[in-house]
Amino acid sequence: MELDEQHFDIVIVGGGLAGNSLGLALRNTGLKIAIIEANTKDQLLNSALGDRALALAAGTVRTLEDIGVWQAIRSKASAIKDIHVSDKGHFGKVRLSAKKQNVDALGYVITARDIESHLVQEVEKTSITVISPARVVGLTSDEKSVHISLKYRDESLCLTAKLLVGADGGNSTIRKLLDIPQEITEYGQTALVTTVKTTLHHNNIAYERFTDSGPLALLPAGKNECAVVWTRRNKDAEALMADNEMDFLEQLQLCFGYRLGRFSLSAPRRAFPVSLVRAGKMQSGRAIIIGNAVHQLHPVAGQGFNLGLRDVVQLADMLIKQHRQHKDIGSADFLKTYVSARENDHRKTIGFTDSLVRLFSNDNLALAAARNIGLAVFDHIPAAKSFLSKHAMGLAQNIPDLDNQQQ
Ligand SMILES: Cc1cc2nc3c(=O)[nH]c(=O)nc-3n(C[C@H](O)[C@H](O)[C@H](O)COP(=O)(O)OP(=O)(O)OC[C@H]3O[C@@H](n4cnc5c(N)ncnc54)[C@H](O)[C@@H]3O)c2cc1C
Repeated sequence: MELDEQHFDIVIVGGGLAGNSLGLALRNTGLKIAIIEANTKDQLLNSALGDRALALAAGTVRTLEDIGVWQAIRSKASAIKDIHVSDKGHFGKVRLSAKKQNVDALGYVITARDIESHLVQEVEKTSITVISPARVVGLTSDEKSVHISLKYRDESLCLTAKLLVGADGGNSTIRKLLDIPQEITEYGQTALVTTVKTTLHHNNIAYERFTDSGPLALLPAGKNECAVVWTRRNKDAEALMADNEMDFLEQLQLCFGYRLGRFSLSAPRRAFPVSLVRAGKMQSGRAIIIGNAVHQLHPVAGQGFNLGLRDVVQLADMLIKQHRQHKDIGSADFLKTYVSARENDHRKTIGFTDSLVRLFSNDNLALAAARNIGLAVFDHIPAAKSFLSKHAMGLAQNIPDLDNQQQ
């Protein structure tokens, strides 16, 4: 590959949701950017992974608007007007309403593929250099730059940059090359993802149903369709994947009930093993990692991309200011400021998701009682509901802790 430039201001590794969003947030800033992506465009756009439905918080939608992405994909998304959270077989229920929160929608549902393909097309329209399919094989840093060795098809290339951003997902090569340790919490669960047609309209309600065998989310997706994210213990998930369609649907219907009428499958079933993966740190020398490379969450609360996009916004804002002031965008001090700006949100969002998984995956009677009392209490305390709504809308990092609100 003939590159016009071997030196960039920023090299982003990973042209997925976080990496491409960062590239777009930084377009028109005068910064020279390269994105290195392991997959070809075709592989990226046709990957089975793209089938997963993402629940986007209102804050995420605003960011996608700001970077000029939302306007073109809005018509592919379904608004969430209400959220019903319930605990199957128990009395606890929480209902959240966009109307009561004075907003148009609590969030939106869209497939990852719809966002990913649009991001790829938008990046192609910019001056960003996209190198794909390519993989980083080595990194070294000195005082002024980071040196990146990569394999592009059968060629070896070497680039330098003032800053390297690792946005290469949960199995991040950049994290490994930087020797950043990771902590993995296995929940022993698998998320089964598909889409069902329903005989009754969803009325733009998202259902989150906690069951003894794991949480089940039905999210409005299209006119009479719902995206299903059904988290089950690994063994049950294996059996459900092996079942024929009829048996699978029967089990799903048994778990959810008939509030939306009868289900029929309108997309293939996919299985995603879920765990919590946390990097020991976000920065090393002139490199920073963002998105799933730092935090891969259980999908139960639909927070992964929402959190990753907040990494993108913070980093882009700070980079633009630093660049305008002609300061070093890869200096350790600058990157440390970014890290401290993100720590609190990471801690809160990871903690929130992890507690949900633990609380609702547990058959212990005392915990079942606690979670039901919790849900019932939530439903009757406006401040708590407002907190939960704001969490769902991606605004929670700006509001006080729940404990303080309840006092
Ligand atoms: C079943 C399921 C449901 C989910 N639901 C939600 C939800 O409702 N809401 C939500 O906010 N989030 C949700 N998520 C999480 C969300 O999908 C992730 O947080 C998001 O995809 C992370 O984006 P990313 O760009 O950081 O990583 P990725 O999407 O993993 O992208 C990483 C990119 O880096 C590339 N790459 C990897 N290695 C290399 C390498 N060595 N060199 C170059 N490139 C490389 C990959 O090809 C890929 O393009 C869900 C996840 C799952 C599995």
